[in-house]
Amino acid sequence: MTDIIRLLPDSVANQIAAGEVVQRPASAVKELLENTIDAGSTDIKLIVKESGKLLIQVIDNGCGMSERDARMCFERHATSKIEKADDLLAIRTLGFRGEALASIASIAQVELKSKRHEDEIGTCIQVEGTEFKGQFPVNCQNGTSVSVKNLFFNVPARRNFLKSNTLELKYIIEEFVRVALVNPAISFTFHHQDKLLFQLPPGNLKQRIINLYGSSYGQRLIPVEQQTALVNISGFLGKPEFAKKTRGEQYFFTNGRFMKSPYLHHAVENAFKELIPDDSIPSYFIYMEVDPQTIDVNIHPTKTEINFQDIKSIYAILHAAVKQSIGKFNISPTLDFEVEQSMTFPPFNENQPVKQPTITINPHYNPFEKRTEPQSRFTFSPSQSQSVRGWNDLYAIIPPFSEKGESDPPLETQVVSHDLLADEAFADRQGSFQVNNSFITTHTKAGITIIDQQLAHERILYERILYQDSQYDKSGQRQLIPQTITLSPDNAQFFMEWKEYFTELGFEINDFGKGSFVIQAIPGNIDTANIGSFIESVLESLKSPGRDSKLAQGQLLAKAMAKKLSVKRGKRLHKEELETIIKDLFACNMPEISPDGKPTMVMLTFEELNRKFKI
Ligand code: ADP
Ligand code: MG
Repeated sequence: MTDIIRLLPDSVANQIAAGEVVQRPASAVKELLENTIDAGSTDIKLIVKESGKLLIQVIDNGCGMSERDARMCFERHATSKIEKADDLLAIRTLGFRGEALASIASIAQVELKSKRHEDEIGTCIQVEGTEFKGQFPVNCQNGTSVSVKNLFFNVPARRNFLKSNTLELKYIIEEFVRVALVNPAISFTFHHQDKLLFQLPPGNLKQRIINLYGSSYGQRLIPVEQQTALVNISGFLGKPEFAKKTRGEQYFFTNGRFMKSPYLHHAVENAFKELIPDDSIPSYFIYMEVDPQTIDVNIHPTKTEINFQDIKSIYAILHAAVKQSIGKFNISPTLDFEVEQSMTFPPFNENQPVKQPTITINPHYNPFEKRTEPQSRFTFSPSQSQSVRGWNDLYAIIPPFSEKGESDPPLETQVVSHDLLADEAFADRQGSFQVNNSFITTHTKAGITIIDQQLAHERILYERILYQDSQYDKSGQRQLIPQTITLSPDNAQFFMEWKEYFTELGFEINDFGKGSFVIQAIPGNIDTANIGSFIESVLESLKSPGRDSKLAQGQLLAKAMAKKLSVKRGKRLHKEELETIIKDLFACNMPEISPDGKPTMVMLTFEELNRKFKI
């Protein structure tokens, strides 16, 4: 038999490597941006078309490349950043594998223009699917410009695998924001389809966060700072009361590299414990500097995981630093932290043993205390019952969010009371009652019906929102509440995609850029105090449409809103509220199933009962 093992041609090897390095446009953006940082640039422009599927261009004013280097950089394992294996231990640059440009060029049409400051003239080189197309001198600015066109043009399977433009753009924004957050002194611009998405002037970290997330963040941040022999921690935490229900504003950077670490996330989350609701996540922008010899960034090609030699100590230091910062903020919330920071942290003395930082925290501090709103406007009063007409009225008597307010009536015993089982309860349709604070039991001519209060209310609200029936008069029932909300960049982008559907349902939204929106009006009685978090949580559920992906967007939004606004299981309802739900449910087009397709009710016919009792 002949030998069968062959060396793969370079073009194939590069394409295989590309599968690891470049999964999607965002990965190419990340690699190109990292190269600009490694090249010492101070001004970086990102231009993207069709979410990177058509064009990704990155222009920098960094060190540039010689004519030869411009050719070499497309070779696999061609890098200027390490020479020998030992160098890996002291890596300070973002790239070092020498794989990115070779990988990108194997799956796209790439044009690179570059000029070093010391050169008179620049060079332009074109590569297409690893094939060298030509190189010639050009007049260009100092620095480098790389255009990547038609990503995956020669790997249709991968191209087809890409997600919607919205999602791919969201991934790109994520990468861009990560790089921008680590390099506040560098100016960035980001255009998509000729529209300016971000313009970030050079500044300090706080200014960078504000430029990315909106001016309201100026009031939301508290600094965190801790210097030890093992790790230097700096950055900002979001104040507890601004913790959000959506993920996205949790950033760890180690030695200038974005990093994911569920373990260290726990350290931060735990330090916020009891200061924020269980379903909220604190925001943080935490920067750690460690000796490069004590970490390994080589685990994954996309390099968002980092192995620390002494992760447990870092956990403890981080946890203490965050607690300390929250405690300090609590004691003196109005201090100017820019000043305070430099006064309170003595410079690190290498000769002193590292002590666990001590924590001063006010155990009685509870940021919710002052925020708890009187719930009374949601509590039901009999005088309202006469005028209960539609979903807006129902909102008025049922808290839209199932927060356990102080004014909630005490929980009733879990068993059906004897009174309710007495004759009176079954005398007529008024005999409906609530069981286990979750189910509504009623009876019809044919038998006994048990309704799930939450699923039923979801169905009612869904139809009201979607069909905007006569009881929901869009113009008449809106609340005018000019209120500014600020969303994270990816949520803002996502919100924009859904804006028209929100508008159809009675919202009035003005986009102020940089993630800020003025909500001029909202439908009905959505809780105005929580409009930001309402929109956030609706967006969050829209992000995972799951098996509903066949539903039209308006339906998805109506469903997400109905689910948020519905009365929840475990909520005690008054008799009038029960009756309203029953009446409204049976007035629905499809009363039997919830918007999710679950049954809203279970029926036990008298016939079945007779059979069971062998009558
Ligand atoms: P790595 O970054 O791992 O070294 P890349 O494939 O990303 O590998 O880049 C290869 C080399 O090309 C780099 O080591 C660097 O010398 C050069 N290079 C890439 N992009 C730029 C840029 N924007 N400016 C200057 N040099 C660059
Ligand atoms: Mg690189």
